[in-house]
Amino acid sequence: MTSVADLMAYDEVLDRFDPVLGLEVHTELNTQTKMFCGCTTTFGAEQNTQTCPICLGLPGALPVVNAVGIESAIRIGLALNCEIAQWCRFARKNYFYPDMPKNFQTSQYDEPIAFNGWLDVLLDDGSVFRVEIERAHMEEDTGKSLHVGGSAGRIHGAEYSLLDYNRAGVPLIEIVTKPITGTGERAPEVARAYVSALRDLLRALNVSDVRMDQGSLRCDANVSLMTKDATEFGTRTETKNVNSLRSVERAVRFEMCRQGAILATGGSILQETRHYEEVSQSTRSGRIKETAEDYRYFPEPDLVPIAPSREWVEQLRATLPELPWERNNRLKADWNLSDEEFRDLVNAGALELIVATVDAGAPADEARSWWVAYLTQQANTRGVELAELPITPARLARVIVLIAEGKLTTTLARQVVDGVLAGEGEPDEIIAARGLAVVSDDSALLAAVDEALAEQPDIAEKIRSGKVAAAGAIVGAVMKKTKGQADAKRVRELILERCAEQ
Ligand SMILES: [Zn+2]
Repeated sequence: MTSVADLMAYDEVLDRFDPVLGLEVHTELNTQTKMFCGCTTTFGAEQNTQTCPICLGLPGALPVVNAVGIESAIRIGLALNCEIAQWCRFARKNYFYPDMPKNFQTSQYDEPIAFNGWLDVLLDDGSVFRVEIERAHMEEDTGKSLHVGGSAGRIHGAEYSLLDYNRAGVPLIEIVTKPITGTGERAPEVARAYVSALRDLLRALNVSDVRMDQGSLRCDANVSLMTKDATEFGTRTETKNVNSLRSVERAVRFEMCRQGAILATGGSILQETRHYEEVSQSTRSGRIKETAEDYRYFPEPDLVPIAPSREWVEQLRATLPELPWERNNRLKADWNLSDEEFRDLVNAGALELIVATVDAGAPADEARSWWVAYLTQQANTRGVELAELPITPARLARVIVLIAEGKLTTTLARQVVDGVLAGEGEPDEIIAARGLAVVSDDSALLAAVDEALAEQPDIAEKIRSGKVAAAGAIVGAVMKKTKGQADAKRVRELILERCAEQ
């Protein structure tokens, strides 16, 4: 375990070194069936119920390529501005691990389906950083090991292990960047922003459900440091298991500070895989990294080569949806927002929520205002992300519609939203249960108006003598008497009418 004392201060790391990143993102495709057999791929199904001789690697079983998997791979490659191979093959990556029943992983080695692309990434200050893509290749996922009896599910100290092969053979696309240099202090931010942009892209393509928490999007972060006068990259470590955007940022920063401390004392960095631990927000040593030779790659003899025709590639290009950055530009214009306003709501994690709220029937400016103001406050108070708040865009849209219909005031609407956040049900149920409807019955309002005027005769006199600005105090008093359930505009009208009569 690396203690804080073993870390170099971040500023000092930047004074002495330049960071170099390499990001490898694995995404599970959302195909109905696995990459080389007809087994289904439902997440969370009972263990070992989605298996067959092919994905269990039984002798003599012959794989067949999933056409949708190839299509998805090509569409991802095109969206990442890659060239698409005219001809490529699968390769066997040989290694033994209990969760990989064939003892090799069917992957691609020196012939990836897509290569040489780029992805423009939006940083927090609105600037764009271009990340060059080395390759995107097809492979299959492994099964899952469950270590029982140890602490925190680790193999160390476990009494026994269970294996679930449901995930073995699920199609994966691995997207590998070229070395990312020139980020300086923004290295952790660039890493997070890249994974975030890639996630948005894959979601827009509808090729994966991109759930980092369920492992359908996983990032391995390669980090190394170069001294300022160096001409070659330093030795890198590869941090695995980074399963949230925040963790990507923290893992990169942690590795920079850890490596800086080692290099400063004349030590050398071990080329190894490391594991990111959420709880301690640090990385720990995994295994010494294999080199490509260790895997004894060779072309997969049981699968035919993939040779996508240029016509097919162009047909797939035509299926690309509006991509996230195109959509952002459109929304920014539709909603009439400045670059800064738009960036703020993206950074607040509000974009998708606002879009969904608008889709559910709310005007964009109202939807935006609720998410970036009141609900952001609520999320901050609870220490959660905006999207984790227990309110759906549909429920918020209902509240906004009720305000527009004059059935809720803003004050009442907040109470309804509070009720939704407290798990009290649908907005309409909460209005009924808490008695929050606007008092629109004039006779009830008039009673409160008369009472308030009688209680403050001097103000009533001022209004009668034409000082209508004084009505504000009476409006306030009426709102208090009706517990905020009156429409303030109507109350004001009634006060002025009443004073004109008398
Ligand atoms: Zn199977």
